[in-house]
Amino acid sequence: MSAIHLKNLTKSFGDFAALKTMDLEIADGEFMALLGPSGCGKSTTMNMIAGMEEPTSGKILFGERDMAGVPMGRRGVGFVFQNYAIFTHMTVRQNLAYGPRMRGAAKAEIDSRVGAIAEMLQLSPLLDRKADRLSVNILQRVAIGRSAIMEPAIFLLDEPLSNVDAAFRAVMRTELKQLQRQFRQTMVYVTHDQLEAMTMADRIAVMDHGVLQQVGTPLEVYNNPANVFVARFIGAPGMNLLKGRPAESDRGLVVDLGPLGVTPPLPDELASAVRAVRGDVLYGFRPEQVVLAERGLSMPVSFVERIGARTIVHLGEGASAVKAVFENDVELSVGHAAVVAPLAFSVRVFDAATGLAVKAG
Ligand code: ATP
Repeated sequence: MSAIHLKNLTKSFGDFAALKTMDLEIADGEFMALLGPSGCGKSTTMNMIAGMEEPTSGKILFGERDMAGVPMGRRGVGFVFQNYAIFTHMTVRQNLAYGPRMRGAAKAEIDSRVGAIAEMLQLSPLLDRKADRLSVNILQRVAIGRSAIMEPAIFLLDEPLSNVDAAFRAVMRTELKQLQRQFRQTMVYVTHDQLEAMTMADRIAVMDHGVLQQVGTPLEVYNNPANVFVARFIGAPGMNLLKGRPAESDRGLVVDLGPLGVTPPLPDELASAVRAVRGDVLYGFRPEQVVLAERGLSMPVSFVERIGARTIVHLGEGASAVKAVFENDVELSVGHAAVVAPLAFSVRVFDAATGLAVKAG
């Protein structure tokens, strides 16, 4: 079994807690992304799964098997790092064949496996090229191939695409997902790039300051962030959050946003839950889920970013600044006032004191 269970896992370096009581279940064959900003503890978690670091406390199990004290070489994991680790004096073919040869595989088997992996990673025309003549993009592909050819039950990748160029990264996202589907490996993928996590992972574990914030499918973490950190971190731009106070009106429960006015009434189930919050809330909505309307939040346009397919419009400033994403031909310019209305289904509310999402129903 190659399910991975992290139980109450912690790691401290001296007084500094790099990982705090992490509980995470990664299913057999699942593609799990560990996503978070620099320094949040992703690599520390990964290094402990690989056996490069010992936990300060807590457990790591592969299936039923406790990994305490099991060295890296005996864990059956493949590991690819940000910086490719390959033999530059060898050819691509020799690099790919290295692992199976060390394991004593027969030549015919090695040839066939090298051929298959090279085909999958588009390395076939380069098999007899010396590695020291190849670009960083290709070297990282060889490094992935060298690990993948061993068909590890658990494949760990730590920011493998951060040094390759943007166009190549897009190609590799698709290839890595296909590779994982083909081998049905359990894959753990460390990244600070939400696009990588969203496009490839079955589920994403979002981390911040050594604390697991939320685990869910890409759409779950996008649609229903557990807290304001996830709401802001997921999405580009992140979720808009405006501070206000719940208030009863004759149309139902609204949020009084001070100078911005009051919001439309909250949907019934959300309103019931928000009534239980004492104090201020954060009224959240995604920039891509707003429309220009006659009634809504009236705000001055402060900046217009035309990014090709879409236009990101910055509205207001300071604590009441929001962003809205429109079609590229939207006719708004700096200095104009725009009236925007969040689509009702997209509205989320957070408790301002705890930062936690208020769950409807
Ligand atoms: P990055 O993408 O920048 O590597 P990360 O989320 O992978 O970020 P980690 O490398 O896991 O973060 O580091 C988490 C925290 O632990 C950081 O503050 C880092 O400085 C600290 N840390 C990591 N390894 C050590 C170490 N060997 N000694 C002391 N502190 C460490």
